[in-house]
Amino acid sequence: MNSENIEGWNEKQKILVVLAHPDDPEFFCGAMIARWCGTGHEVRYCLLTQGQKGTQDPDMSPEKLAIIRKVEQQNAANLLGVASVEFLDYVDGELFPDNQMRLEVVKVIRRWQPTILVASDPRNLFPTDRRINHPDHRAAGQVVIDAAFPAAGNPSFYPELVKNDHLPPHTIREVWLSATAQPNLIVDMTAYFDRKLEAIHCHRSQINEDGSV
Ligand SMILES: [Zn+2]
Repeated sequence: MNSENIEGWNEKQKILVVLAHPDDPEFFCGAMIARWCGTGHEVRYCLLTQGQKGTQDPDMSPEKLAIIRKVEQQNAANLLGVASVEFLDYVDGELFPDNQMRLEVVKVIRRWQPTILVASDPRNLFPTDRRINHPDHRAAGQVVIDAAFPAAGNPSFYPELVKNDHLPPHTIREVWLSATAQPNLIVDMTAYFDRKLEAIHCHRSQINEDGSV
């Protein structure tokens, strides 16, 4: 399927991508983000962790890697045309979809008021027969979906956000799930694939010298 309006949108959308790690947006859905930015939609990122465990090098400190990965993520976002990038600074590998994290995601949703939310599919335990999905990807998907409904749009959830932070309830129109094992939309992204690869290559700390990941 490669029709012009695969999304069925007739107006510009505000799209918020909330995923676990710096590099997840580009690996999971970089071509789609390139398409959305290129067709005039506003795309923003929120990454839950700093990605500070994304190394096998015992000499790399978590603090140093976090700084490197934030810069890499900003570079990739710039290349794709993303409007802003923010980090909630949870520790890589330690995401658990609890109420505190849901509150933090609701804050981000209510602040940006997106029409479209992009999350990762929390049901994806085994992406292939030979791979286990990173637990942060599942936890992030769970907490973001739970934040989207009903918490973000219901005034009974976190009334202090309305009172103290001027963040009124906001209802998301659509949730799009990336990194799913059960796709219900197949789109030919050939036109945006080179752009996705370019963006992935901004994450230099995550790519081996031979170009593998
Ligand atoms: Zn990841």
